[in-house]
Amino acid sequence: MVSPLHSNGTAERTDNIISAFSDLAPKPDLRPELLLRLAGKLQVTLDLNQLLEIFFSEIQNAVLVDGISYQHDALSLTHQCGRLSTHSVSYQLQTQNQMMGDITFHRSTRYREHELANIEGLMSTLVYPVRNALRYQEALQAAFRDPLTGTGNRAALNNTLSREIEMAKRHNQPLSLLMLDLDKFKQVNDRYGHCTGDQVLISAANCILQCIRQTDMCFRYGGEEFLIMLSNANHGGALRIAERIRHSIAELQFEHKEQMLKITTSIGCATMNDEDDMESLIQRADGALYQAKRSGRNRVITDQEQSQLSAKGLTE
Ligand code: GH3
Ligand code: MG
Ligand code: MG
Repeated sequence: MVSPLHSNGTAERTDNIISAFSDLAPKPDLRPELLLRLAGKLQVTLDLNQLLEIFFSEIQNAVLVDGISYQHDALSLTHQCGRLSTHSVSYQLQTQNQMMGDITFHRSTRYREHELANIEGLMSTLVYPVRNALRYQEALQAAFRDPLTGTGNRAALNNTLSREIEMAKRHNQPLSLLMLDLDKFKQVNDRYGHCTGDQVLISAANCILQCIRQTDMCFRYGGEEFLIMLSNANHGGALRIAERIRHSIAELQFEHKEQMLKITTSIGCATMNDEDDMESLIQRADGALYQAKRSGRNRVITDQEQSQLSAKGLTE
């Protein structure tokens, strides 16, 4: 089902919308073989962006469009093909029980009524392929996400980190890791119950996500341990973000039966060097975290501090 949202940049916009869906509206004038060909082409992929690119390229045979843009707010998906122009018409894609995002057709000249009718006819071929692509996208997201906190899981970490290390080396860019562990978390469960423990974990994860950039990623590494990948962050930058996270989590307050509960974290920070692979980098972040725990918790220790301490024989 295709519902009109709005069109802009044109004086006839409201008329267009109403007329396009009224009984007097022009009917789509599309050759059946064009629709068949389009429907066939849209069957070949479950990749949403690819699907939109195919759709954009194929519809040029029926109606000239400078660009299309797609947006799905709930799933944070956007895609643009071609270019944006002054005139646009938008539609909401939906099936009976699912909203599937908005699609906008851009053009430098006004759409005529019969063109809008054609666009709507063409869009009928897009609804079910988009639904299938979104289902696929959701399944992919679920396979790589920790269900409790919504952060990446270990499978996502393995996929992402080795690739990011390779990219950072190739482009000669820094990369840092933070290994974060909630302090004395077992006591939270023991004193306040597992459900409260879960809420604390969720809030801590949200807090981390608010402290990092969109290009950074947070993974749940174990029970109350998170691994944060900081792209393009050197030692100093990573340390600043780690301290920001530590302070923000220390400021969280939880209420449990009129008691206030607060938590702290220990963080180990490691910055990639030329010899590093995924294992060695994680190991150094983990070593620094271990040192942060040993030095009294609620602190950040970097791999540099950790190696200075071990050089002085101050670590176990
Ligand atoms: P430390 O400061 O040394 O890290 O002490 P800790 O108590 O945090 O460490 P420990 O490893 O002894 O305990 C971790 C606890 O985390 C034990 C486990 O019950 C809890 N935990 C792990 N996963 C979950 C979870 O998904 N939900 C809840 N509520 N608790 C969890
Ligand atoms: Mg802990
Ligand atoms: Mg732990």
